[in-house]
Amino acid sequence: MNELAIHGGKPLREKMLPYARQTIDEVDCLSVINALNSDFLTTGPVIREFENRLCEITGAKFAVAFSNGTAALHGACYACGLSAGDEGITSPITFAASANCMLYMGARPVFADIDEETFNIDTNEIEKKITANTKVIIPVDYTGQAADIDAVNELAKTRDITVIEDAAHSLGTKYKSRPVGSLTDMTEFSFHPVKTATTGEGGAITTDDEKLYQKLMRFRAHGIVQSGREGPWFYEQTELGYNYRITDIQCALGISQLTKLDSFAARRDELKKKYNETFSEMKGLILQKNAPYSETVNHLYVIRLDLAAFKTGRREIFEALRAENIGVHVHYIPVYYHPYYQSLGYKKGICPKAEAVYDSLITVPFFPSMSDKDAQDVLDGFDKVLKHYLK
Ligand SMILES: *Cc1c(COP(=O)(O)O)cnc(C)c1O
Repeated sequence: MNELAIHGGKPLREKMLPYARQTIDEVDCLSVINALNSDFLTTGPVIREFENRLCEITGAKFAVAFSNGTAALHGACYACGLSAGDEGITSPITFAASANCMLYMGARPVFADIDEETFNIDTNEIEKKITANTKVIIPVDYTGQAADIDAVNELAKTRDITVIEDAAHSLGTKYKSRPVGSLTDMTEFSFHPVKTATTGEGGAITTDDEKLYQKLMRFRAHGIVQSGREGPWFYEQTELGYNYRITDIQCALGISQLTKLDSFAARRDELKKKYNETFSEMKGLILQKNAPYSETVNHLYVIRLDLAAFKTGRREIFEALRAENIGVHVHYIPVYYHPYYQSLGYKKGICPKAEAVYDSLITVPFFPSMSDKDAQDVLDGFDKVLKHYLK
């Protein structure tokens, strides 16, 4: 009766529940249609409007929207002057983009180990990795929980290091009562469909620094400025930029999505509470610790298996959950495990805590539009599978 689906039993759900997905309603659709019927599909006024909304939400003076979060990170690394021979420090438990953006500039990513309980980059580990070549620190607000930003800023302040917060997961999160987006020199957001708010593809940098803002604006559009020097038509390319523009169509969706941030956050919180309550009662699980300084809007919900409690490893438990149609995932493979990073000379063993956390990590389906029944299925699925494999 309760035979696991992986062993030929009936799956707990008929249809796969994904780990994350967008939440789109009729208002979002109308907003996009309006943009399609307007004079500008790109380089129009809706982009500025979206950026203004981001400033309001984050408290930052300036925002520059990009075609995606990775392009935004590339822009931030360019704007702070990162270049060949420089080093930048980031967490290994992140999406490759947090480190790739440094490689784009010819700089070398350096990985600092994480805190085993919060899974965020450990400030003491950052300090150990700082050298005379360190030009940037990119703390990642993993799952939406803010890294210890004051401590990171403190390390950077006296050393002429730029801090770029990778807040791809943490739109809406507050750090010591201050909104993410106005805490560091620059903050990067992503609006990929799985993230807290979406533009399809999209990203942004927020900053209080007007010089950085101007550089980001030029970098987004080929390094070209409308100078008018030799006449009204006259524009000049003064540096090498890219076409990293976002469209008005995407920003129209973004504006509409941002009006719903509070309700998205409330639903995410409800689901998190339900998960925390039930998972903390289950044997064999280790929950992510809430750092006292972060008032978190979760993007992901992750959990660790206490591997010593089970007869099998993470892989079989993961596959058994998938067979029940619980769409678990793993975020993230340590960046330096990737073959490309290995080819650059990174060796396993750099960040032992990150590696141990990775070995036991599972991402649990978690998004605002999932129903209470979906959430209950997740909990029932874990209960069924974990009980089977407990020692
Ligand atoms: C999503 C994400 C990004 C940016 O991704 P894009 O898909 O380029 O928008 C950057 N860092 C982290 C940690 C992410 O999760």
